[in-house]
Amino acid sequence: MNAFDLKDKVLVITGASSGLGRSAAIECSKQGAKIALVGRNYQNLEYTLAQMMNPDNHILIKADLTDTHQITSLVKVVVSMLGRIDGVVHCAGISLTLPLKLSNEDKIENIFSANVYASYNLTRETLKLGNFSKNGGSIIFISSIMGLVGENGKSLYSMTKGALLSGVRSLAVELAKKKVRVNAISPGAIETPINAAAVHMADPEYRAKLENAHPLGLGDPKDVANAIIFLLSDASKWITGTNLTVDGGYTAK
Ligand code: NAD
Repeated sequence: MNAFDLKDKVLVITGASSGLGRSAAIECSKQGAKIALVGRNYQNLEYTLAQMMNPDNHILIKADLTDTHQITSLVKVVVSMLGRIDGVVHCAGISLTLPLKLSNEDKIENIFSANVYASYNLTRETLKLGNFSKNGGSIIFISSIMGLVGENGKSLYSMTKGALLSGVRSLAVELAKKKVRVNAISPGAIETPINAAAVHMADPEYRAKLENAHPLGLGDPKDVANAIIFLLSDASKWITGTNLTVDGGYTAK
């Protein structure tokens, strides 16, 4: 048996409507997983499904993860349709470049709701209702190198991503008795809809600088998907409470 395969594991992948979540769903389906794809836009989820292996094995769930009631409902739907949950990959999130002086209460609440509260609420509801199997489970939060290092205008985004990195450590300790592992992945810059229009990607001069800041160049969504497969699979069964940096060497400098 291949320790890296995900054969018959039931996964919930949020943000599967685009970018890193879409890529994770496609790549995990190639490893044999059954997946509940979660996002706000049903058509985009259908577009992801069309690129997956064994499309009949998967389900699509439209939900806004800033609404805890919708989180509770989606977990119930997954359990009733797929029987249990073996892994959760929380890719849904928003990015923001905003100097301190332009921030306000609404902007703070908005980004913390999407990036931090949703992660925590999804974890709690999954533990409560998710029927993790006796073999346990794996929960992955997608953080960012901005949770590890600083950048102009990124303070709010960095605070949300740093919160995830701290959260996984204590959750890992708390959930170990249930054999549920909790880890984070911190990607460097990868071109996806979240940043395609941002000046650091769209402007050729800034983009070249960003590429140079990553010794191995910019990343591909599959680079993150492969790290996700590892942390979901039994190959990582003794790894919990960690952060796996997937950044082409950005933070090694
Ligand atoms: P993306 O915008 O392509 O995908 C994010 C998805 O999450 C979108 O489909 C969006 O609709 C969904 N989403 C956002 N808020 C939601 C909500 N409240 N309920 C349900 N769905 C919601 O972005 P991406 O690049 O795939 O980013 C995924 C995660 O990876 C984010 O947390 C992001 O911060 C992180 N990240 C991305 C990069 C990068 O360079 N792309 C780097 C580091 C970290």
